[in-house]
Amino acid sequence: MKSIQQLARSRALPSFATPRVQNVRAHRLWQRSFSSTPAAFELARLDASKLTIKKTTTPKELLPSKDLVFGANFTDHMLSVEWTAKDGWHAPQIVPYQKLQLDPSACVFHYAFECFEGMKAYRDAKGQVRLFRPDKNMSRLNKSSTRIALPSFDGDELTKLIGQFAKFESRFIPDARGYALYLRPTMIGTQSTLGVGPPGSALLFVIASPVGPYYPTGFKAISLEATDYAVRAWPGGVGDKKLGANYAPCIVPQQQAASRGFQQNLWLFGEEEYVTEVGTMNLFIAIKNKETGKKELITADLDGTILEGVTRDSVLGLARERLIPQGWDVSERKIRMSDVAEAAEEGRLLEVFGSGTAAIVSPVRTISYRGKLVNCGLKENEEAGEIALQMKNWIEGIQYGDEEHPWSHVL
Ligand SMILES: *Cc1c(COP(=O)(O)O)cnc(C)c1O
Repeated sequence: MKSIQQLARSRALPSFATPRVQNVRAHRLWQRSFSSTPAAFELARLDASKLTIKKTTTPKELLPSKDLVFGANFTDHMLSVEWTAKDGWHAPQIVPYQKLQLDPSACVFHYAFECFEGMKAYRDAKGQVRLFRPDKNMSRLNKSSTRIALPSFDGDELTKLIGQFAKFESRFIPDARGYALYLRPTMIGTQSTLGVGPPGSALLFVIASPVGPYYPTGFKAISLEATDYAVRAWPGGVGDKKLGANYAPCIVPQQQAASRGFQQNLWLFGEEEYVTEVGTMNLFIAIKNKETGKKELITADLDGTILEGVTRDSVLGLARERLIPQGWDVSERKIRMSDVAEAAEEGRLLEVFGSGTAAIVSPVRTISYRGKLVNCGLKENEEAGEIALQMKNWIEGIQYGDEEHPWSHVL
């Protein structure tokens, strides 16, 4: 069937075929309504096929794997795409890793128009490079960017670009278990005016940092301090988005916890003191449920105050598939810190762990809460519980392609 636009062009509707353009906006509206082919005025979409590559003339020497520090060293190149409200997405570029040039008035510096992602590229046993659930990172970045009036983009196109970039830089991925190329897609508003409004220009860039295993000598369980004097996120807020502005305010409470000897802080919320997240990880709690008598793996529900972790979703998916048949319940629900403490006292707290891309899982030994130490179920000589160990092995097995799984994306 012919589109209304084709019909209009050929014969029937001359007034639709040649709109009387009052202004650009009216023309765009007309296009959106009646045009199926891009024309001069349509904003350009992000298009991976337009990628150009400019190679560095000063390739870096690879660091010995053991010297890699998370996020401290970067590869030779970066992926960069400009966007303007007038033209849409420009042609993507891979260029030598370089400093950005921005006007001091650029809106990113004043009003925090910034959002980001964290994901990894892995090298499998056959030497192929893989991404883990990149579609999840793309949809989350789109949710983050559009929440702060930055542009959206076609996630499949950015996945293609990131894939090409990761392959291009693959000499930086050490060929050993636990090593990966940490990828940091970032979008910033670049408009140079101090007026507070939607940015008329933006930059999407991706940098890459080779990283080693989070726990090079095996798990080391961490101790947390429950933070009740500050909140990370609140209903109707933006705690479920990966906005840069969410992170700076978390450092002081983290320093406070560190000054008292705790590696991370545990964010409680509300009068009920619901357990939400740990540092920048989601949190899982395994208990023996008092009412049902069954083992239950619990994480906070996505009520807008919880970051929608890709690892969180993967732990939940695997738990539903592989733990429920073993008699477990798996719940996304609120749980009070006092209930966690009670479970510990009654010997029903089985284990607690954080989840995130950096470490996959991070076992917790104790939580300081109201002047007491809640013991999270690990024996003295244990650094991880059964579920945390199992999850790490399952997820890592998929990420490195030992287990063929739809979540792993070969480049
Ligand atoms: C990134 C992040 C997570 C973990 O998300 P993953 O996709 O699993 O890496 C959890 N909480 C916060 C606050 C985060 O920023």
